Amino acid sequence: MPRTITGVVIHCAATPNGKPFTRADIDAMHRQRGFHRQPAAITRYKTVLGHELPSIGYHYVIELDGSLKPGRHPEEIGAHVQGSNSKTLGVCLIGTDRFTLDQWATLRNLIANLKQQYPTASVLGHRDYSPDLDGDGVVERNEWLKICPGFDVKTWLAGGMRPLADHLQEAPCNLIA
Ligand SMILES: [Zn+2]
Repeated sequence: MPRTITGVVIHCAATPNGKPFTRADIDAMHRQRGFHRQPAAITRYKTVLGHELPSIGYHYVIELDGSLKPGRHPEEIGAHVQGSNSKTLGVCLIGTDRFTLDQWATLRNLIANLKQQYPTASVLGHRDYSPDLDGDGVVERNEWLKICPGFDVKTWLAGGMRPLADHLQEAPCNLIA
């Protein structure tokens, strides 16, 4: 029975804008925060996901060069939005509030695909969720929750998912050919 998805939640990694940070770095950060994937899921999905990272809480990570890296499988419950993990997917942009054109393009494609796959799911930023009171073990710093994902998702959607000028990061030198 596939997991019911009612929402897609967009996050930022809260890392310095324009500074490379990888899916494996996110995994290490989430390990420190005590997140773990189910061992059976790590084994079951290692081929399709292309990794066996034990902790990562998001389903997708979008790195600075626009590469889309799977985290947890969509059938796995994530660890990214306190109180609302069971029916959501988590997408994380590396950076805090400025993202590269490649990241914006990948986000647009990903969200367009997810909206097709889950037509009734909402697409919101983490900060659009109220802090949860049921204490399901996911603890986010308050200041992080206030800004995450660093831009207004409703404004971005209303603008046709085009890059937001105020949230554009130049590619770092090591990404320019
Ligand atoms: Zn977040």
